[in-house]
Order: sequence, then C-alpha cells, then structure tokens
Amino acid sequence: MKDKDVLKITEIVELQIKRFYLPIKLKKECPRCGKSSESDLSMEYLSYPTVNGKESIPFYCDACDSWFAADATLRISIEVGDTKQI
Ligand SMILES: [Zn+2]
Repeated sequence: MKDKDVLKITEIVELQIKRFYLPIKLKKECPRCGKSSESDLSMEYLSYPTVNGKESIPFYCDACDSWFAADATLRISIEVGDTKQI
C-alpha cells in the first residue's frame, strides 16, 4: 500500500456555499443556566462559511428558553489516492 498525500488548506478561504449542512451534532453548555444544549448542523446550516475562519454556531437551550452561540472553525484536508488512466 502506497502512502497517501494529505493536503491541508491553511489560509482562510470562502467556500461560496449559501447553505452548508453537515451531519454533525455539537454540544455546549448554556452560558445562562449551565444545561447541555445541542446544535444539529444538518438543520442549523452554516451560511457562506469559510475554511479556517471563525463561524458562529447557534444553540437553543430548552431549559431556559434562550439562544446562545459558540465559535467554531471549519478545517478541510484532502487525501489523494492512487492514480488511474481516464
Ligand atoms: Zn439555558
């Protein structure tokens, strides 16, 4: 098996994607009441996100009926496999 090349984007790049959904659920504690809240990124999409920039992720807390946000950074790497004739 050959080694694969893994390339990482290190600068801030705009993705030009209006609604970016991900099959990921994030959990954070509510800053008001301390209860755990979840943000489902398959529902709460990122709007025109950047790679390596700061995104604001919204969370809704059921326990105290309030919204809060957490910063998140989207990172992308590309794994390049074997070549083939096309
Ligand atoms: Zn709360």
